[in-house]
Amino acid sequence: MALLDIKELHATIDEDDGAKAILKGIDLTIRPGEVHAVMGPNGAGKSTLSNVIAGRPGYTVTQGSVTYDGADLLEMEADERARAGLFLAFQYPVEIPGVATATFLKTAINARRKAAGEPEIEALDFLKLMKSTSKRLGVPEDMLKRPVNVGFSGGEKKRVEVLQMAMLEPRLCVLDETDSGLDIDALKVVADGVNALRAPDRGMLVITHYQRLLDYIVPDVVHVLADGRIVKTGDKTLAQELEAKGYAEFTGAAA
Ligand code: ADP
Ligand code: MG
Ligand code: MG
Repeated sequence: MALLDIKELHATIDEDDGAKAILKGIDLTIRPGEVHAVMGPNGAGKSTLSNVIAGRPGYTVTQGSVTYDGADLLEMEADERARAGLFLAFQYPVEIPGVATATFLKTAINARRKAAGEPEIEALDFLKLMKSTSKRLGVPEDMLKRPVNVGFSGGEKKRVEVLQMAMLEPRLCVLDETDSGLDIDALKVVADGVNALRAPDRGMLVITHYQRLLDYIVPDVVHVLADGRIVKTGDKTLAQELEAKGYAEFTGAAA
């Protein structure tokens, strides 16, 4: 069974003066174990796609379906999706003043366990898991005592996000331009984390404008999204082709 099955997806963004059509018929199937990349010019609808998958408010699906692990994803609330193992890393991480990163991680883990009908994680087990995962991913432990993302550098935010992703053991990870504005070291942190999470029962959707990230995370399938549609699908060589030629072929203008 597919992990994520998107069929003929049309979505609009709600605006004051009406609705604007952004996604115009997306078909995309991710099977367990696969890493898919979605590339495309600015304004193509990449973030809209990830926001619709996440169930963020402000969007209306006007046509089509999204099935996640056999269930109708569009019928699920955003937090339900997260508890069902969907992990979304966004372009702009949210700051949560007053909540220590470690507390935030523990809450997230317990929410998932609760959804799976499992008891809360023991305090000692949580500390062990946090210690070993942060060591593996190179996250300084004192960072986890600080409030979520408050005053973190771009690289630190990514490290914590990857740590969170690893600790939650998601079934499907969606990374929306998580590489934008990162220096090469932070980029490698993200890529190493994602690569470490590759597993036969896990799928990944890596959304990026630039090919650079895909030098480190090698996708099984690459899709080009332009003007709300997937206009081309290929293997990893498509990403290299795009790096060389840009998106002009798909937009009628220089990318
Ligand atoms: P991408 O992530 O590929 O750059 P987006 O999904 O962010 O594209 O945006 C797709 C289109 O929707 C763009 O034309 C953008 O200007 C528009 N858009 C995005 N967010 C909003 C919003 N909140 N209100 C109105 N238009 C928006
Ligand atoms: Mg954009
Ligand atoms: Mg975007």
